[in-house]
Amino acid sequence: MAAKNRNSVAADPDTPGATGGSPYPPRTQRSGRGGYGDPPRHALRKPPNDNAYLAADDLVFAYAPGAPVLQGLTMALARGRLACILGPNGSGKTTLLRILVGLLVPAEGRVRLAGTPLEQYPRGALARRVAYVPQETLAAVGFTALETVLMGRSPHTGALGFESTGDWHAAREALRRTDTERFAQRGLEDLSGGERQRVIIARALAQEPDVILLDEPTSFLDIKHQHGIYGLLRRLVTEEGKTVVAVSHDLGLAAAYADRLVLVDEGRVAAAGTPQEVIRPEVLSPVYETPVEVRTDEATGRPYVLPRPPA
Ligand code: ADP
Ligand code: MG
Repeated sequence: MAAKNRNSVAADPDTPGATGGSPYPPRTQRSGRGGYGDPPRHALRKPPNDNAYLAADDLVFAYAPGAPVLQGLTMALARGRLACILGPNGSGKTTLLRILVGLLVPAEGRVRLAGTPLEQYPRGALARRVAYVPQETLAAVGFTALETVLMGRSPHTGALGFESTGDWHAAREALRRTDTERFAQRGLEDLSGGERQRVIIARALAQEPDVILLDEPTSFLDIKHQHGIYGLLRRLVTEEGKTVVAVSHDLGLAAAYADRLVLVDEGRVAAAGTPQEVIRPEVLSPVYETPVEVRTDEATGRPYVLPRPPA
């Protein structure tokens, strides 16, 4: 199992020069602001783990003694990629995200962001770089949507915590991008689950981080807003060079939008790679303990899972 994990990471299609089969043009051809200080691509021809922007090395974690949740989980993501983390209920996806953002500390192993172990970042610096959108969105009840989104600016506001014009602008822009402007003055508790989820995503955008981690961001959303959110995540990656990691149970959305999929099973990476590499019956069936039938979308070349009831 451990050898399998390492192989899946070594086969990192994010490594420059690899043919990952992504329908998206290579980053050098993409439009966008640039300016994220990426070294030239030829300078990145190194072993994949050194190239990683966000890396988890051999993470071991348990909430209680004798009940391991992560059991040597290793993954690596290049900068400017959209990755989806897949896996059965209880496989450790939320735990992994919470470790990646520094909310939980692994018993063994470590997380590296831009090559530096997470624990070496001062709190404020980490908050400016990494945003986390948790699955439960009831935490900020009692505030309006606009107030909630402004909270995303707190890593940027001065010592006294007064918002600048720039902070208000960032908050308004985040509401606009998540189609939540009309809820600005509404209390979070007066919004539907899906509306509230988009406001929490807006809060993460207002934070203007390099890395955005989202835990099942579309679980309450209708298909319009599912595509709205994943389309937005895609643009953040392609046009602004952000690195986005989203946990998803929706294999179809993940395969349609992600550059890279990481399949977690019992606290380890069972498979990682492009959608074409991971969305395969022989990969998914054993992990989900259910038959899976895969087709290819002729229009995009991307795979999808047929929603066919098991016989
Ligand atoms: P996933 O997000 O993949 O569904 P989680 O990371 O939430 O999985 O949980 C992995 C395992 O850890 C599950 O068995 C879950 O019951 C357990 N777990 C999660 N959070 C806690 C906690 N706060 N205390 C104890 N056990 C937990
Ligand atoms: Mg979870």
